[in-house]
Amino acid sequence: MRIPFSPPFVDDDVLKEVEDTLRSGWITTGPKVKALEHEINQLTGCQQTLCVNSWTSGAILTLKWLGVKAGDEVIVPAYTYAATALSVIHCGATPVLVDVLTDFTIDPAAVAKAITSRTKAIIGVDIAGLMCDYDQLKEVVNRPEVQSLFVAESEVQSKIGRIMIIADAAHSIGAKYKGRNAGVCADVNIFSMHAVKNITTAEGGAISLQLPSNFDPKAVYDLMRLWSLNGQTKDAFSKSNGSGWRYDILFDGLKVNMPDICAAIGLAQIRKYSGQLIKDRAKIANQYETFFNKKGWAQPPTLKDGSRESCYHIYALRINGITENERDAIIEKITAEGIAVNVHFIPLPMLTAFKDKGFNIQDFPVAYGNYAREISLPIYPQLTKEQVDQICTVVEDSYHSIKASEKTA
Ligand SMILES: *Cc1c(COP(=O)(O)O)cnc(C)c1O
Repeated sequence: MRIPFSPPFVDDDVLKEVEDTLRSGWITTGPKVKALEHEINQLTGCQQTLCVNSWTSGAILTLKWLGVKAGDEVIVPAYTYAATALSVIHCGATPVLVDVLTDFTIDPAAVAKAITSRTKAIIGVDIAGLMCDYDQLKEVVNRPEVQSLFVAESEVQSKIGRIMIIADAAHSIGAKYKGRNAGVCADVNIFSMHAVKNITTAEGGAISLQLPSNFDPKAVYDLMRLWSLNGQTKDAFSKSNGSGWRYDILFDGLKVNMPDICAAIGLAQIRKYSGQLIKDRAKIANQYETFFNKKGWAQPPTLKDGSRESCYHIYALRINGITENERDAIIEKITAEGIAVNVHFIPLPMLTAFKDKGFNIQDFPVAYGNYAREISLPIYPQLTKEQVDQICTVVEDSYHSIKASEKTA
């Protein structure tokens, strides 16, 4: 029987919520989006949340709001999905890549070394659902010598008075860091609700604000909402409610709002996330851990440590003592058995667009080591205990068969 990698969670409640939207006569940004924003505020405890149509557009919007432009630098880990760096490039700025730690998160010491007078923001990535050390990143940007380098060139930058910390929380909704939820650990925290993520709206993203106390979060929300709707003073929903036809365009906004028809899917899922869906994921992760912990050749990922708890988005297994080619051969074997696996991620310096910008993977040895030995196993609520057993067996057999064939070769 084939086991897919990450099918979306669609139950009767999801279908009902979507049908309700279709029958309501309103399918784009309106009451379902507001309700989803409210649920994310409740789940994370953040100040305000704005839903948009992807993580990527949420990041571009955030950087534009911050005033990031050509000549500016934003520090990004080499080990992430391309969107983290592309969002910087789309604002005309330069992504500065740094290496990561063996737990996959950005290396704060490498960040400190990469800061210049042009640095406007740092984007940490909560890979697999395990959060970055945000307190350490804050400590770095608050160092007097780093503060004195900082040049504020926009109203928002003056207000923050230091390098902004942004969380690429694409994987981490529901995760915890020092008792705090994903969504409140950086100044701006951006979730993805793409089809494969823990909570999905097919395509979607959410910007959760946890700004310093000199900001008015509701005013920032209102401004970001304008940014997401062409900078237009009146949205389609309020116009349809008969509150007048006249509108103005205040600035060159984007068009990246989330439709209600999409929000409906995520709304039905988030209502059962803490109570059910995340627990189902934890159960699977723990079943993998029990199996792989006993295998000397396997390096199970960190699910929990003294300060963090994952939200079990990706199960990033690594295999000890193998090359990138051996990893590829193991994946081929697993796939031939009908089990879909993945690699998260190919480090950015190995991709054409980033090679063309002069990045070289040899400068990011930890990222390469994490990547070369990594295999992401299926993890989602619909998986049964028997399927997880089957995956474990197939992974083990595939590993041994590749190792045995190497010996005889
Ligand atoms: C999925 C993902 C993104 C992009 O999310 P979209 O919603 O598809 O734009 C960004 N960063 C990471 C780490 C991701 O996994």
